[in-house]
Amino acid sequence: MKYNLLYFLDTSIRFGSISWQRILKISLDYQWYDEKSRTKELLSRINSLLRIISSKNIFYKKHLSSYKKEIVTLSEIKEYPILEKSNIRENYDSLISDISTRYKTGSTSGSTGIPLKFLIGYSAVMHQTISYYRFLSWYGLTSYDRNVLLWGQKKRIGKSILYFFKKLVYNPQYRISIFDLDEKTFVYHFERLLTFRPKFFRSYKSGAVQFADLAKKLNYDLKKIGFRLVIVTSEVLFPSDRDYLENAFGCRVANEYGASEIGQFAFECPEGSLHISDDVNYVFTNSDNELLVTSLHNIKFPFFNYKIGDKVILSTRACKCGRTLPVIDNVDGRSDDYIVKPNGDHLSQYAFYYLFEEIAKKNGVGCIKKYRITQNQNEFAFEIIKGENFNEDVLSHIKEHLYNVIGSDIRFIFKFSNQFNRDESGKLWFFKRI
Ligand SMILES: [Zn+2]
Repeated sequence: MKYNLLYFLDTSIRFGSISWQRILKISLDYQWYDEKSRTKELLSRINSLLRIISSKNIFYKKHLSSYKKEIVTLSEIKEYPILEKSNIRENYDSLISDISTRYKTGSTSGSTGIPLKFLIGYSAVMHQTISYYRFLSWYGLTSYDRNVLLWGQKKRIGKSILYFFKKLVYNPQYRISIFDLDEKTFVYHFERLLTFRPKFFRSYKSGAVQFADLAKKLNYDLKKIGFRLVIVTSEVLFPSDRDYLENAFGCRVANEYGASEIGQFAFECPEGSLHISDDVNYVFTNSDNELLVTSLHNIKFPFFNYKIGDKVILSTRACKCGRTLPVIDNVDGRSDDYIVKPNGDHLSQYAFYYLFEEIAKKNGVGCIKKYRITQNQNEFAFEIIKGENFNEDVLSHIKEHLYNVIGSDIRFIFKFSNQFNRDESGKLWFFKRI
């Protein structure tokens, strides 16, 4: 294990202890554990959480009163009650444990509904940070390597001594606001990045695409910066996005997946599998493939069997990389993001992606630059940014195709724009139901 002194100091100050090093060691070993050792470790973490929350948390004292305080096999966790978002909204105060520990406040962006408020204890933040360290190590990178963060939300660092220390002495991160990225600022950042020499780039997918679009338009070669990895998060990464970004940045693109309530918890390995950090967030799926998550270290504001609102397929195969961390085969986005057919059936939003891929194949990629769709009951509103080869026939192609896959009693609205605005957090959605 290697880390530099400044990273060691920064991390120890942030977590108020040097115990993170021991946890990092366990975390790096854990990814290779066999089934028996994994089960032992997970049972110990789940039972320790159960013990604490059933005595120190008013909500869980009641919520789990008729359940055992200890489980013997991992599958027993499935018998425990589910925590819904509505439970959190209605019981916010009683969900705060009577434990004096440092914590930070958080809230979801509200892009999929009403924002949800919650707390994250520092132990959970530490485990999330360590799991991120482990992910970077898969690519020969570390958390203290110079990197670029292109982000929507302003980080609340405050004006602490630590902030100035980091800014002056130890500053591995170059931050760019997604709301402040245009042709003029791109050139400024590009010039600075040539000397900063960052090793990795992290952004929402649409942010990385926008960065690559600007480079292409202004004729700047992103490969000159020398990135070794582009990490994309939050939005659906389609195969065509991956190809585009890998070509533009000249390096590997790795996907990550998570949610603000529990942090980023699944990361793509060099073999292309999305591995779950289940030593931080234990997960399983119900019969509808809905993901249920237990944040193992957030004792301040427990998420136990929390229905996060995503549907995923958990894999049963072992990954070629040899890591035993479970693998997600398919993330189908937020449960709210599927298309609802007039007959009530659900259809994945990927249906639009495949349709527009087909259009691009038939009419050339310069036909439609960008698109997004809003479903309001049986009405589908398409916002389209036309490309230079756009022709009206495409619209009848879209209609015809969707009459077949969604149903004949649907209506269409087509609107044309020059650009799409990001939501408050800086994300760009491509499909939503209202
Ligand atoms: Zn793997």
